[in-house]
Amino acid sequence: MNPLLFILITFALIMSTTKKDIRKLSKEELRTFFVENGDKAFRGNQVYEWLWGKGAHVFEDMTNLSLVTREMLEANFVINHISVDQMQRSSDGTIKNAVRLHDGLIVESVLIPTATRTTACVSSQVGCSLDCQFCATARLKRMRNLNPDEIYDQVLAIDKESRLYFNRPLSNIVFMGMGEPLMNYNNVIKAIDMITSTDGLGMSPKRIIVSTSGVPKMIKKMADDEVKFKLAVSLHSAIDEVRTKIMPFNATFPLEDLREALVYWYAKTKSRISYEYIVWKGINDNQEAITALLKFCSYVPCKVNIIEYNPIDDGIFQQADRSMVDEYLYQLEKSGIPATVRRSRGKDIDAACGQLANKML
Ligand code: SAH
Repeated sequence: MNPLLFILITFALIMSTTKKDIRKLSKEELRTFFVENGDKAFRGNQVYEWLWGKGAHVFEDMTNLSLVTREMLEANFVINHISVDQMQRSSDGTIKNAVRLHDGLIVESVLIPTATRTTACVSSQVGCSLDCQFCATARLKRMRNLNPDEIYDQVLAIDKESRLYFNRPLSNIVFMGMGEPLMNYNNVIKAIDMITSTDGLGMSPKRIIVSTSGVPKMIKKMADDEVKFKLAVSLHSAIDEVRTKIMPFNATFPLEDLREALVYWYAKTKSRISYEYIVWKGINDNQEAITALLKFCSYVPCKVNIIEYNPIDDGIFQQADRSMVDEYLYQLEKSGIPATVRRSRGKDIDAACGQLANKML
């Protein structure tokens, strides 16, 4: 190759890879950028609106900006964005998106429709930091955290699908996809700030649930930060010995620490906690497990969602008999603790809880 051409190509490549991801800039930083480049600060607001409120993926779409401005943005920035690589539809209406990130990695998010609501179940990490033995995502290990825009984009994509297929906007969000949200706390909070901000989707935080396997320090931090969304904890057992077997990180964050953090959370936020709980054969389908759960539930106002187990094809874990689930429900209700059984959705496309693991790849 001609040496000059080689230098030019290398230079162009370096320039293109050193361009900054524009969504890493705050509104204020964008305003400053325009002022420093001889334009009005207000131009920053316009671009911010395109990037977040309208979800523009290319500068070309920013039609109320002049060509010169768009070219200037193009020369300085990139807009990293997700693309929905594959969309699968379940016979029950559930939609699963395989979402490709700008670096080629894939996460999954799910749209769950009911008669009146559309819920987005979004991922917070590629893979997962934790090691729950019954969860397909845990087997992927954590590859990286998602950026705020990558979380936000999953929500936008589902909002769009909800409007298209169900003629209504997205109504609820659960952080119950791939990953442990509290191990990617800052980015999850930034994404939620944008989802709830009028610059973004303007959604009420009351319609958002962050689900955690239970990281005590981070639960306390959330309480200190006075977050307004709801908290769910994947409990599955209120006996340390059993919980450590099925969720080994429990050895590091034992139930006593979790309890203390949850008491702290409730004292600060006054927001009731949901416990997610699966009943498995030979693991927690006994009276001792029920008694321990009732005791754990007495510490802070809560409700219990018993979730159906979705097999992840190793046969070690098996859903307990229905009579045992009924026994849980009966005893919880008798103790005044609201409890429901949540039937999983989207099983035929591996979109149900714990089944997100990029099977297609
Ligand atoms: N790491 C967070 C967010 C993931 S949420 C958390 O653990 O809460 C995923 C939910 O699905 C959790 O409640 C998890 O315990 C549950 N889950 C995992 N594997 C499952 C499976 N095979 N069947 C049913 N639920 C499962």
